[in-house]
Parts: sequence; structure tokens; C-alpha cells
Amino acid sequence: MNQSRFLVFSLLFTGLFSVLTLNGQKKSKGDDAIQLRVKPKLVVGIVVDQMRYDYLTRFYDHYGAGGFKRIIAQGFNCKNNHFNYAPTSTGPGHTSVHTGTTPATHGVIGNNWYDKENDETVYCAGDDSYASVGTTSNAGQMSPHRMTVTTLSDELRLHTQMKGKTIAIALKDRGAVLPGGHTANAAYWFHGKEEGKWISSTYYMNELPVWVTDFNSSGVAQSYKKAWTTLKDIKTYKESGPDNNNYEGLFKGETTPTFPHNTAALLDKNKDFDIIKGTPYGNSITADFAIEALEKEELGTDDDTDFLAISFSSTDYVGHKYGVNSKEVQDTYLRLDRDLERLLTALDKTVGEGEYTLFLTADHAAGEVPAYLKDMKIPAGYVDYSVSKAKFSEFLKYKYGTEDIVKNFSNLQIFLDHKIIKNLDLDVKEVQEEIAKEYLSYDFIDRVYTGHQMWENQYTSGIPYVLQNGYNQKRSGDVLLVLKPSVISYGRTGSTHGSPQIYDTHVPLLFYGNGIKKGSTVERTEIPDIASTIAVLLGISFPSGNTGKPISAVLQ
Ligand code: ZN
Ligand code: ZN
Ligand code: ZN
Repeated sequence: MNQSRFLVFSLLFTGLFSVLTLNGQKKSKGDDAIQLRVKPKLVVGIVVDQMRYDYLTRFYDHYGAGGFKRIIAQGFNCKNNHFNYAPTSTGPGHTSVHTGTTPATHGVIGNNWYDKENDETVYCAGDDSYASVGTTSNAGQMSPHRMTVTTLSDELRLHTQMKGKTIAIALKDRGAVLPGGHTANAAYWFHGKEEGKWISSTYYMNELPVWVTDFNSSGVAQSYKKAWTTLKDIKTYKESGPDNNNYEGLFKGETTPTFPHNTAALLDKNKDFDIIKGTPYGNSITADFAIEALEKEELGTDDDTDFLAISFSSTDYVGHKYGVNSKEVQDTYLRLDRDLERLLTALDKTVGEGEYTLFLTADHAAGEVPAYLKDMKIPAGYVDYSVSKAKFSEFLKYKYGTEDIVKNFSNLQIFLDHKIIKNLDLDVKEVQEEIAKEYLSYDFIDRVYTGHQMWENQYTSGIPYVLQNGYNQKRSGDVLLVLKPSVISYGRTGSTHGSPQIYDTHVPLLFYGNGIKKGSTVERTEIPDIASTIAVLLGISFPSGNTGKPISAVLQ
């Protein structure tokens, strides 16, 4: 090879090589951009109040192609997803989903709780320093001020210089106020009684936007004051118990818990428009209103990612009245499936298929009705605290000479009066232990822990781990009680929730849309992981108290 030929060859080779590297670089830059973040036009966070994981599987064959089935088939299903704290109730649930942490950190330790500092019971979303908007009642006096950390939507607002918009919607005030975070442009909830309107708080605005007053005067709410019939032939509902049984409650004025529920004739006895909340139509009007918000607020129509938080609350009211094994619950989920399909279709139309990212979960699950379990020979039961109250009072008087040492009993926690303990020259830790031991001797109690144990230990699994994640040093009580599995303090009909047991913690977690892989996992995921996953996906900061872990299998 002479010199000139070698030169030509080398030039050719290096030229070829440069093209390759150039292409290679270009490709890897593209990969980096994808790996860095995705930028959906809208994030939709859906919470279904009291949804158990098995409602996806039990009713699956009845679902249509465009609702739950579409999300599962084209999205990602976390099959072993749990609340990792107790109490498993609505206020803490919505807060934990959206802040990516637990009551130990975000401070919302119940729907209501005893405020030690001010010696009063407080409501998680209540705030009388603000006035109602859109109602003459005080139902609008709400704000997220008791939530001490930021939400995913707060971080998105900060990231976009407040240009990304946040709207939060639910029948229940706490289902909208807490997910909206501190910086929501608006949160709306439904006020029933004689008004039947979507309302808000002066925390967000001084008057309702025109589109909301138009919706309120459109007669939509009135149209849902109609008989609740089954969506399909009730004979095809083979996945639930008989319609008429002893485990179901009644609307006031009804004589049997059976279809059709003629709610239009029962308005007077059931607080008028409030009756809608207790039927699947409460979810339908939530979907109607969310779809209207999507269009009128122009969500997901520009480059700054917006956030729409929706909570479907009727599922909880229906579960509480009829129980998880009822035909009423089955029908409510079949109808919710239709409402989800309508919502997805509206998102495709206004935002565009592939332009939004969605997650769907619950704020807690629920247990089977104990009376039903007992009839099926499964250990279960009910506790009436008034029975143990006398015994406990005797114990306190005998041991300490006064009952005043106990200040409050709420959310299965005992709050002690630390001043009296000091005056009696007693040790708080010892009093906690004595009271814990006394309660452990009661038949309905499964186990007990003290506040001191919560301070001293770092639990990593099981019930104590779940309790510790719910234990807030500044707000929680001195003794924590756990009832036996399937023992509840509740009426003899319907289901409830609140415990650290697995039937209250296991809930669906589905991801769908922009940046989400198709697939599923059986690895355990926990509620705080949701916000971590979405934050990583969007490339934004984690909410300020975030203790979850991004679920890497979900992300493309
Ligand atoms: Zn709830
Ligand atoms: Zn029934
Ligand atoms: Zn509930």
C-alpha cells in the first residue's frame, strides 16, 4: 500500500467512523432525553374510595373493554400493593397517595383526631379561617393546612413556575382538598342536602367560575335522583351474595336491602341530594364534573404539565352500607367501569391518546362483614367499647386513684394527660405499659404497643411496622391498640376499614399512558411509592416528605 492510497483509505475509514460515532452520539442523546423525563400534558391521579384489589379480579369478566380492562391491558398492574400504615382511613389515604409518605411524616393521622396541643378534636380538612364558596352552608370551610408536607401536584406547580394547573375533584371534601395540595388552582366537592352543588373554599377562590355555576344550575344533579337499578340483569351477578340478606343496611324508609332501590321516593328521609352519594350515580356525577373541568379549564392543552386529581367516593358509602360481598357493591363497580370509560374517552379527545399519564389506586380497602364471616365459620366479631369501658375505669381508679389520667380515646389510640401523670409523680413510660397490659387482657384485643416503643424501635415488617408508619410523634397517642383480625367496632351490617390488617391495606395500583410500560408485578409495592414513581417519570422533585421508592418496573 503506497502512501497516497493509505491516506485515502485512512480518510475513508475515519470518515466512516465519524459518521458512525455521530449517529451513535445522536442516538444516545435521544436515549438520555427519554431517560431524563417524559412530559405528559396531563397527569391524572384517580383514587377509588374503599376499593379492594380483588374488585379488579372478581368482577373482571363483567367489565367493558374501555375502562379497567383497558388500563390493565395497556398499562402496568401492581398486584401486591399495600398501605404501609394504620389507620387506613380516607383522610390519611388521600394524603399518603399524593404526598408519597405516611401519617408519621405528613401529619394527617385520621379523618378526625384529638389535637393534644389545643385539647380539641379536629377534622383533617377543616379550617374555619376560610369561608364557603358556592353554598350558604359551612361545608366549604376547608383547607389542606393540617398536611405538613407538599404533594406531587405542589412539586409540579413549583417545577413549572406555577404554570402547570392543578384541579382536584371528589364528592368528599377531604378527597379533593388533600390531593390538591397547598397550591391547587381549585378543589371542588359536592354539597348535597337541599342544594346539590359543587362547592369550594375561599382558600382557593372568592367565587365559583362560570362553568361551575353553569354545571350546578344545569339540572345534572337533579337527574340522578332516580331509582337505582342494576346495570345488567341481576341474575348474571354471580360474583356476589344474595341481594336480600342480614348483612346489608338500608336507606332510611326502605324495608328490604334489595333492588331496585327507589331512592327518588326516599329523599326526605335521606337528606335529599345526599342520597346520590350512596348510589353509583355519585361516581357518575363526579365523572361528569371532571370531564367538564377537563374541557373548561383546558387541562393538558399546553406544554406545562397539568394535574387532575379525581376521587370516586360513592364506592365507600355503598361498601359501608351493604358490605364487600353485596350485589350493590358489584353493581357500583360495573357502573364505575362505565364512568371510567367515559373519562378515558374524554381524555383521548381533549388531551390526546398517549399525551397523558394516569394512575389509579384507593385510599384504603375494607374487610368482609364479620357477621357473614362468622356464619361461614371464620373467626370474626364486633366490639362494643361501652362494655370494656366500665372495666377500664375500675382499673384506672384502682391503679391511679383517678380516671382523668386518660384524656382521649380515638382511632384506637389512648391519649394520656401528661400533666396529671407528672403531678402524681408517675412515669409516662410506666403508665403507658400498665395501660397497654390492661388492654391486652381484653378479649377483643390482638396486640398493644406503647408510644415509647414507637420512639425507641425501628420496626421493619408486620403490624408494628404498619403502626409505626402511622405514628406521628407530635400528634399520635400514648397507647396503640390492635383489634383481632375481622373484629370491628361497627354496626352489624356493612363493611368498614381502618385497621392495619391486610384486608384493609391491599388495594389496586394501576399506571397507564405516557412513559408507562405494559406489564405487571407481584413484588410488594407500597402507597408512598406512587408519588416517587411519578416524580421520577416527570423529572421533578420528590414531595417534601416522600419516603417511597420509585417502582422501576413501571417506567419505560
Ligand atoms: Zn375512604
Ligand atoms: Zn342487597
Ligand atoms: Zn369509609
